[in-house]
Amino acid sequence: MSGLIDLHSHTNASDGTLTPNQLIGLAQHNGLTALAITDHDTFAGYEAALPTARAAGLDLVCGIELNSRLVLDDAAHTRFAHMLVYFPNNKPSSEFNNWLLEERAERRLRNEKLVKALQERDVDINLQEVEERGRSITGRPHFARILVEKGYVADFSDAFHKYLGEEAPSYVERVSKTTEEVIQLARAGGGIPVVAHPVRLGLPRAAEAALLERLQKAGLAGLEVYHSEHSPALQAYYRDLAAKLKLLPTGGSDFHGTVKPDIDLGSGRANNVHVPIDILDGLRRFVQ
Ligand code: AMP
Ligand code: FE
Ligand code: FE
Ligand code: ZN
Repeated sequence: MSGLIDLHSHTNASDGTLTPNQLIGLAQHNGLTALAITDHDTFAGYEAALPTARAAGLDLVCGIELNSRLVLDDAAHTRFAHMLVYFPNNKPSSEFNNWLLEERAERRLRNEKLVKALQERDVDINLQEVEERGRSITGRPHFARILVEKGYVADFSDAFHKYLGEEAPSYVERVSKTTEEVIQLARAGGGIPVVAHPVRLGLPRAAEAALLERLQKAGLAGLEVYHSEHSPALQAYYRDLAAKLKLLPTGGSDFHGTVKPDIDLGSGRANNVHVPIDILDGLRRFVQ
């Protein structure tokens, strides 16, 4: 079968702006034959989109994007690594779903702390108004929208710079499982764990390759090769690295709707994402 596929997208069940049904409509419009919905911390968008996707003959793949705490070799250094987990043939186990409940509870606690930290900086904001925008999960992008609307900042990136990002005085860190723990939970739950947009780790190439090798030994199954933030040269580099480390190559646009208007579903930023269709076959073979 030919056609476009996209294995990384968000609905308004997390921090995207399209409803699940609107996303399916756009997938059809853009000529996709397969799409994975990979909302942060929730399957709600995927579940809501299933009937529409079936009716449209679109191959909808179950996925999720999770935060993890990556401990680098010199232990003092940690950073956050996004993990994609795919369930292309099967449902997540009930243990995995129970763990997600805990993740969402932890996220809510973080949001409460973040509201307090902002109020201490004289920002007029409350949890209820943030959660009204968040539906299934509420995240920092919802905070950012309010900060923009109320005129505290000029735009999204300003909101992260001044109030929400790691460098801001009101930053509140999430309590996350380590990357290895997320890999274990994903594998035990029947999923395929993949390191998302590795470019964002910001590691030198040798350190990045060593890290991925370490994670592969801990059960990591794939590496996101094709992504809107990866240049064509970087995609070629990651494709070779994935092959060398025996990791499944995956990819997608990371479409979020109007909050990231330069990224289109299926084709990424200025047409820089073209995910080969056999990538999905590779995922399906892995869990069959
Ligand atoms: P959360 O999961 O609630 O901590 O929010 C994380 C999300 O915020 C990420 O998935 C991004 O979509 C967004 N985000 C994080 N940092 C920035 C930034 N500097 N500028 C714009 N969006 C960001
Ligand atoms: Fe996001
Ligand atoms: Fe991400
Ligand atoms: Zn994403």
